[in-house]
Amino acid sequence: MIGAELICTDESCAVTVDVAVDALEHLELLACDDCGRVTQVLAVWDVVELRPAAPVTTLRRTAPPLAA
Ligand SMILES: [Zn+2]
Repeated sequence: MIGAELICTDESCAVTVDVAVDALEHLELLACDDCGRVTQVLAVWDVVELRPAAPVTTLRRTAPPLAA
């Protein structure tokens, strides 16, 4: 995922919006929500998905036998 800050190219609107897309090409398809004009990319960053990389393993300590 890619995060981006877009700004409307209409000076009288100039709305900025943060979006997240799968690929950079998708940014070119985004129009301003307010006026429908073309948007310009101000900044781009990687969106890191918060997902565990591997199953979490827990160390289990064997319980000592109960003293009878
Ligand atoms: Zn606009």
